Amino acid sequence: MSRSPRRIAVIGAGVCGLSSAIRLRERGHAVRIVAQRRSPQTTSNRAGAVFTPFRVEGHAGAARWTEASHAVYRGLAGVAAGVGLARLREYFFTPLDERPWWTEFVEGYERLAPVPAPYVDGLAATVPRMDMTRYMPWLEAQFTERLAGTIEPRTVTTFDELLEEGCEIVVNCSGLGAAKLADDPAVMPMRGQVLHVANAWSWRECLVEEGRGSTTTYVFPFEDYVVLGGTYERHERVEQTDEATLAAIVARCQALLSRAGFGDVPDLDARRLRCWAGLRPARVQHGADEAIRLERVEHSPSRWVVHNYGHGRAGVTLSWGCAADVVRLVEEIG
Ligand SMILES: Cc1cc2nc3c(=O)[nH]c(=O)nc-3n(C[C@H](O)[C@H](O)[C@H](O)COP(=O)(O)OP(=O)(O)OC[C@H]3O[C@@H](n4cnc5c(N)ncnc54)[C@H](O)[C@@H]3O)c2cc1C
Repeated sequence: MSRSPRRIAVIGAGVCGLSSAIRLRERGHAVRIVAQRRSPQTTSNRAGAVFTPFRVEGHAGAARWTEASHAVYRGLAGVAAGVGLARLREYFFTPLDERPWWTEFVEGYERLAPVPAPYVDGLAATVPRMDMTRYMPWLEAQFTERLAGTIEPRTVTTFDELLEEGCEIVVNCSGLGAAKLADDPAVMPMRGQVLHVANAWSWRECLVEEGRGSTTTYVFPFEDYVVLGGTYERHERVEQTDEATLAAIVARCQALLSRAGFGDVPDLDARRLRCWAGLRPARVQHGADEAIRLERVEHSPSRWVVHNYGHGRAGVTLSWGCAADVVRLVEEIG
């Protein structure tokens, strides 16, 4: 490292906080994490999770963060616990205008034709797939064991409290917590409900149907379980599932599986493992739900806050690309 190491506190032990802390530690900085919740209690633990760049269309940084993250996940596939590559098929109710930008750098892209009714368009590609029940503990261990970092259980109420303890830079990866901490009214919860069922069919392919309103439909199989999702419930703050919503998710997934050629699966949720609700940290601006805030602010003389929050539906997808920008913003400080 060319510059002297910085004393840094990262707020948050979700996927964005851990990825940022790992990259900063790897550069030789003195980094500690302070977090209210850590794995397995964070929103990140409840994510699907499949590489989903289509959720952040239109954001200025999206293409760069997405491509950089993709390269990292590509390298972690088969190396990091829970990370692999899988074929994804996505079906749309409205025609695609053009080839999606992110398909330029993923492998195996093809436009699907014909597609089963009621869909009118579809695509397939090979994308990274993260089993968060295994990937989050692996990420934590990278920081605490490989890089000897510490995670302090604590609720932060102001940036000053960390800066007064002697750190020079606070990296704010507090997700929904940023609404209060950064006094940002654009931050709001978008609840997602999912079921995990035993993968009794040895499925490998991920299926997604274009989201409509507060619903989205996806089937993400992993080695031992299949994730059935989901919902986009804006402003819902209660971290709890409800049976009617779960039943509707199962019915939509059954229809998607049938249309995609998997036949009838009447016993789809016969072996439920877990039902989860997670509050995605959305940041809503100019019609976008993922108006991510990734910038450096001089908080007081020689003290800075680097914000990295508001990833909504795509925090797993973007985490490594955003972490690379966090490092750049830290190291640009003269
Ligand atoms: C059902 C569901 C499915 C999803 N599927 C996908 C997917 O397929 N692909 C994808 O890319 N994304 C997906 N997501 C979105 C993804 O989970 C989020 O974008 C991501 O987890 C955000 O990560 P984060 O680190 O910013 O926030 P979080 O995981 O919420 O972590 C925030 C951290 O900050 C801490 N914190 C907050 N406030 C304070 C405070 N005041 N003091 C101290 N600590 C604080 C918290 O305790 C926590 O440690 C999904 C989400 C859900 C719920």
